[in-house]
Amino acid sequence: MSSISQNLQAVRARLATAVQAANRPAESVQLLAVSKTFGPDAVREAAAAGQRAFGENYLQEALDKIAAVRTAQPELLLEWHFIGPIQSNKTRPIAEHFDWVHSVDRLKIAQRLSDQRPEGMAPLSICLQVNISGEDSKSGVAPHEVVALAREIAQLPRLRLRGLMAIPEPVEGLEQQRVPHRRLRELLDECRAAGLALDTLSMGMSADLDAAVLEGATIVRIGTAIFGQRHYA
Ligand SMILES: *Cc1c(COP(=O)(O)O)cnc(C)c1O
Repeated sequence: MSSISQNLQAVRARLATAVQAANRPAESVQLLAVSKTFGPDAVREAAAAGQRAFGENYLQEALDKIAAVRTAQPELLLEWHFIGPIQSNKTRPIAEHFDWVHSVDRLKIAQRLSDQRPEGMAPLSICLQVNISGEDSKSGVAPHEVVALAREIAQLPRLRLRGLMAIPEPVEGLEQQRVPHRRLRELLDECRAAGLALDTLSMGMSADLDAAVLEGATIVRIGTAIFGQRHYA
């Protein structure tokens, strides 16, 4: 058995334990495998072990990888999630090649994605990225602007606004890690109270999966624990 499939089994077991500890239904959290910096063979190994949803941060790398996997295995149906920073002049290939975008943080990007989503495809699923820890360097909409932006994006015809995403500042300890995740869940509750039908909290990475699941994550984005350490060129 490859190490990727062993790692996947371990992550699934960890996720199942976290879901049980949170008293949540077994299928309530989706595992997104973050394959950035790893090649098409790593994706195919994970797919052979049953993984279907993959997250990517860098557009050109992702497009090359999607094409390579499709050429090698045209019958393999994968779901691709864009989770990285978005430049407004690069929205078209995102709208054409992805099923989800987690990193929308301004109206202009959402409008372009809606305009450029091909007619023959299902509406593009969207999460708003929230700057939940208030870090200057992080992208993401400020928490107090989330409901207003969500209302506007929910009107766009070729998008389906699903929920919120965050990358909290790394901290140690379960209780400390729960704080920003709880704040994101409360923001989702505010959006729902404002009448928006949202079903997704994209939060939790290799280091804080357990805290995120306790606070209601519905998609966890796991890279290192599945594929190993990343090496940037
Ligand atoms: C890289 C990345 C991840 C995966 O992080 P790991 O710590 O490797 O699990 C998740 N979400 C986003 C937005 C990322 O950029």
